[in-house]
Amino acid sequence: QKVYQNSKFVEHPSVKRNFLKPIFQNKKNDKEKTKKSEKNKSNGVDDEELENLLADERLKGIDPKMIEQVRFEILDSVHSVSWKDIAGLHFAKMCLKEIVVWPMMRPDIFTGLRGPPKGLLLFGPPGTGKTMLCKALANEAGCTFFSVSASSLMSKWIGEGEKMVRALFEVAKCYQPSIIFIDEVDSLLCQRAEGDFESSRRMKTEFLLRMDGISSNPDERLLVVGATNRPHELDEAARRRFSQRIFIPLPELEARVTLIQNLISEKKYKNNLSNEDISQIGILSEGYSGADLYYLCREAALGPIREIKGDICNIDANSVRPILFSDFQNAFQRVRPSVSSDDLGKCKEFNEKFGTYN
Ligand code: ADP
Repeated sequence: QKVYQNSKFVEHPSVKRNFLKPIFQNKKNDKEKTKKSEKNKSNGVDDEELENLLADERLKGIDPKMIEQVRFEILDSVHSVSWKDIAGLHFAKMCLKEIVVWPMMRPDIFTGLRGPPKGLLLFGPPGTGKTMLCKALANEAGCTFFSVSASSLMSKWIGEGEKMVRALFEVAKCYQPSIIFIDEVDSLLCQRAEGDFESSRRMKTEFLLRMDGISSNPDERLLVVGATNRPHELDEAARRRFSQRIFIPLPELEARVTLIQNLISEKKYKNNLSNEDISQIGILSEGYSGADLYYLCREAALGPIREIKGDICNIDANSVRPILFSDFQNAFQRVRPSVSSDDLGKCKEFNEKFGTYN
């Protein structure tokens, strides 16, 4: 049987188990194969890989159209995020290393009680780095990354959502170790009101069943990560499946300063900002999410451009003036924090009640 991921990840030699390594099993002619594959590449997927996948015994009974959709639209092969790209969130990174990365790398040591969780919930306000964290997690743990938002699962495959969920889990098994990332997971697993669509109810049931399936098989290296900024909307059954629930808060001062420094660094943009200025911007941006800070810096960076008089097409790039503190003062007027204290309060409350590390 073949496994399709050509991962750079190399397992420790003492790792012996039933699941397959994330490399092509047939080493013979690997170089030739790679050359051939590269030639045939379209959308990052080579023909040979797709052919093998569609012919795989394990995917018998699954609609080939859906297999292709999972491969092309959900499998995210461009996840070059690493821990260092993420400002702050030291505690979350440490937890993820301990509970996911190490067990994924050394399944021979992390067995039984030490085994990795099969469901992980990242909850917190929007734009705080949940998606980034999960991408970095997949990257660091050498996992294939499947990423989809629950709302697109539900709207795109109306009436077939349940089959799609099944296809997603089965394809992810073929590529294991895999992470299935479901953004806005609350919309799929919320406490449903009366008069709910039958199809979304079936989809939810299928999803929970699939999660149970991976939990009952210790040899499967599959992790489902759900992200939400409305954790209180998850029902009890869903909450239970996500055995680890990690709060991803708004960035603290240190993280805000790091993020601003990274975004506006002298290497990328000319600026006149001293360390004190950046600290001051950090202080003034309390309550801003990582995404808000990105928009704030973007707005400030556009300040010098807006002042250009004359033909932008013909000016010398070196004549664009540096970014000043006053550009940030103006940007603060335009870019306001997006997270309401009410939503933040609900996340904190959920953390106190159900967070794994509170
Ligand atoms: P979420 O999934 O929590 O809504 P994302 O991970 O999609 O948030 O982050 C959105 C954007 O905000 C990122 O692309 C990045 O530019 C910025 N961002 C948010 N948090 C961080 C962080 N901790 N470090 C670096 N960038 C961040």
